[in-house]
Amino acid sequence: MRRLFSFTSIGVFVAALGGAWVGYAGRPESRILILDVGQGDATLIQTEGRTLLIDTGPNGDNRLARKLRTLRVGSLDAILLTHPDLDHINGTMAVAEEFPEAPILISAAFRNHPDLSQQINSWKLADRVRWVSAPGTLQIGAARLEVYVPAWMPGTPDNDGSMLTRFCISDACFVNPGDASSALDPIITDEMRWKANLVKAGHHGSRTSTSETLLNELGATDVAISCGRNNRFQHPHPEVLERVNSAGLKLHRTDESGTITFEIRSGRWQRIN
Ligand SMILES: [Zn+2]
Repeated sequence: MRRLFSFTSIGVFVAALGGAWVGYAGRPESRILILDVGQGDATLIQTEGRTLLIDTGPNGDNRLARKLRTLRVGSLDAILLTHPDLDHINGTMAVAEEFPEAPILISAAFRNHPDLSQQINSWKLADRVRWVSAPGTLQIGAARLEVYVPAWMPGTPDNDGSMLTRFCISDACFVNPGDASSALDPIITDEMRWKANLVKAGHHGSRTSTSETLLNELGATDVAISCGRNNRFQHPHPEVLERVNSAGLKLHRTDESGTITFEIRSGRWQRIN
């Protein structure tokens, strides 16, 4: 398999886009926004004038693209899609159209995923996709985005092929496990040995994600859940809420609060809105 994305090439690749940063006007702070997209996921990361989007939400229209403009996102440096479920990728065509400079990064494990291939072709975005075949780190000034792509086989749940990411500035870190279940916890805790004060609950607060062990091992203080109001899956699951509560962690839910913004305060990611 051809490697388009590796430890070295990520930096080179993104650096090659340099010079055209518009960034986000007047906001020198780095920030993470868990965007309110209803029952789905879209996370915006802004640092050093650069902007990354992880997932594009469940809406197939241009709602998210418009929202990004409202947030004064001038350019997107990369769109990462964690896995092919529609609640994570349905806004891709509109966002890619609005931000034609942004490459689309997807785990190479999904390269032959039948639904995804069909989507990419119907969006006419095949030229924009960069298949990520190995773990890598994207360095953006003092910040770094670590990317891990789990193995995935056709016929097994898409969720457990979710691209795992950790975004850090110094020791302030944020982990986004996509829709991964706790089956992938050992990758995060043992293989990558990730620590993070802020974690997005896996799979919208589903019972089979966000284990007590994961929260402990990460050293989490804050948990964000992206889910829709009165969603038909009844996310988040009460057991997850209980795990977060009994560990004394702060809980942040898009269904209750809308878009949630985090910035670094006292060396860790803290909610500012
Ligand atoms: Zn999902």
